[in-house]
Amino acid sequence: MKLVLVLNAGSSSVKFALIDVDHYGNEQDIARGAVDGIGQTSRWNVHRSDGVMNSETTIKDGIASNHKEALSHIVTWIDKNYGLTSLAGAGHRVVHGGAHFTKPVRLTAENIEALRKLVPLAPLHQPHNLAAIDSLTDLAPTLPQIACFDTAFHSTIPDVGREFALPRSITALGVKRYGFHGLSYSYIANELANKNPELSKGRVLVAHLGNGASLCAMKEGKSIATTMGFSALDGLMMGTRTGSIDPAVIFYLMRDQGMSADDIETLFYQKSGLLGVSGISNDMRTLREAAHNNRHAREALELFTYRIIRDAGAMIAVLGGIDALVFTAGIGENDRQLRADLIRGLSFMGFALDEAANAGKKRKISGEVGPVALVIPTNEEVMIARETAMLIDCKHK
Ligand code: ADP
Repeated sequence: MKLVLVLNAGSSSVKFALIDVDHYGNEQDIARGAVDGIGQTSRWNVHRSDGVMNSETTIKDGIASNHKEALSHIVTWIDKNYGLTSLAGAGHRVVHGGAHFTKPVRLTAENIEALRKLVPLAPLHQPHNLAAIDSLTDLAPTLPQIACFDTAFHSTIPDVGREFALPRSITALGVKRYGFHGLSYSYIANELANKNPELSKGRVLVAHLGNGASLCAMKEGKSIATTMGFSALDGLMMGTRTGSIDPAVIFYLMRDQGMSADDIETLFYQKSGLLGVSGISNDMRTLREAAHNNRHAREALELFTYRIIRDAGAMIAVLGGIDALVFTAGIGENDRQLRADLIRGLSFMGFALDEAANAGKKRKISGEVGPVALVIPTNEEVMIARETAMLIDCKHK
């Protein structure tokens, strides 16, 4: 048995999972939790799934004024309950691996410095990932640490799908499409390979629809196109993000509306998408309820659906047809209305919805003819645990 500590550090939270990976590569959840509200009123919660305590939620104010204190709280809790020696290693979710890191890597001083150089490519996320890495290095210096990248799964996208129509000097700076949500896509690719081996060899479109949303076109289990680009702002409309937008809007907002780059960044990342269009919420459940008597909520949902269908059309063209469509993440796994609307919108490709299966939370929700539509819950934490365990094993051989 080996426990892998999975860490996902954001701007104001550190989420963690403790996952047991056995010698056969089977994973079992031991605990999942988070410190939220770092720097403000921080909260700590953890759910154990080992039967000792099914669900423990402890809320303590003021436990973490920074990422290091948050991690220290997590490490202390693990030590108290399982002993730090039970940890085989830690796997970090790292948003950006740049052009160089196309696989998970062991975090040596040299690799950490290389990741620091990528901060300008992901200034809103990478610094928090690095803060967790630095903190854990201080708190548990001998624990092997592995970085697992959101970009890595997309390293198979051919150049033509990766480059923007910019002068080569700008492309050479690294201004190109990287794509994100790679740990989720990689988990789905593995699930397909295990449970639908025939389909996994074909043309698959995966829709990761959560707060962040993107599409990935996979051929033979490899990414060949994705909607997110240089940043996680590109592509589909999201909870609070614009998705693709004519860049000339930026010039207009700067010149004519006097907005700064920071103002526009906040507008595009945090105040747009479902929240901006509805003026109500970024939460699909709230919008579904509001849609009955609120036009703006309805329009937000319509636009969200339309944008997915439009981009799905582009992805299907790149794939040269489609054998399977997979829905995943919070919205994809739970919002049956959206799945039905998307499958109807893609009926020109021969999709037919099995309404009962869609309502009944089944894995396969398409009819007997046409391409297959599946709902597969994603599990990025398990993917990180798997990659981490594999790398630790390899290194010991
Ligand atoms: P993140 O990108 O933060 O990991 P998630 O994958 O957890 O996001 O997805 C969050 C989204 O899932 C929210 O928009 C939420 O409204 C939506 N969601 C969760 N449960 C449901 C549900 N039962 N019906 C519709 N939407 C849901």
